[in-house]
Amino acid sequence: MKFWLLLLVFVSAASNAQSEGVEVQKSRLLLLPASTVERSAGQQYGQLMRAAEQKGLLNNDPRQVERLRRIARELIPHATRFNENAQAWKWEVNLITSRSVNAFCMPGGKIAFFTGILDTLKLTDDEVATIMGHEIGHALLEHGRARMSGQVLKSIGIAALSIFFNLGQVSHEVLAQAANLAVSLPYARKQESDADLVGLELSARSGHDPRAAVAVWQKMARLAQAGAKAGARGQPPQFLSTHPSHESRIREIEANLPKVLPLYAKAARP
Ligand SMILES: [Zn+2]
Repeated sequence: MKFWLLLLVFVSAASNAQSEGVEVQKSRLLLLPASTVERSAGQQYGQLMRAAEQKGLLNNDPRQVERLRRIARELIPHATRFNENAQAWKWEVNLITSRSVNAFCMPGGKIAFFTGILDTLKLTDDEVATIMGHEIGHALLEHGRARMSGQVLKSIGIAALSIFFNLGQVSHEVLAQAANLAVSLPYARKQESDADLVGLELSARSGHDPRAAVAVWQKMARLAQAGAKAGARGQPPQFLSTHPSHESRIREIEANLPKVLPLYAKAARP
């Protein structure tokens, strides 16, 4: 029983009270300290990038890589509105050569895009901002940290955790596994909606048309349909397996556009 009382101390439910922009919910039950999660995610990201480099798959096409990094530089200054710790994050943006239609942002601001998502969906800058903003949204709202906390709990068990509540002693392997799962499993619907909203606001504030979000999800849906028609050979976009689409997604985005279009207007015409 004592343990659950301790748990309560860690419950942080803060909805941001802003006068303008979107409203989202921060993650609960963040047992693992942010610093632990970010260090572990950073190590996993580094390993992934080194593996890609060794296989010649770390894409150096300056046109595409610089484009991604420029859009990240435009979005990032607005990130602290949703998580003030983001100011200290060591952001990274890399492009991996792969037909995978995917992108992610690990805890602590480690972003990866795959050439497959740029090429297959023929993304405009505003659409890249939509997807990057959405991914950054997951990181800012600490969805990965919440999931890692859950995974670590499952892996080592609540009894063990209660003995050494000092989570610095959680083994490297357990953390590494949790960090991988944090970007390879689907998010909950509420987390998806909130990441969409953060993406809309980051886009709008950085001068990218937030209406591009509608176009992105329409493209994603068309690709999934084409994949289904092609039968077993058809590949549904991997992005949809970690970011489940739902029928109401586009409607929710459209319903929230009036909250961010004024921000876009201000940013586009300073
Ligand atoms: Zn998502």
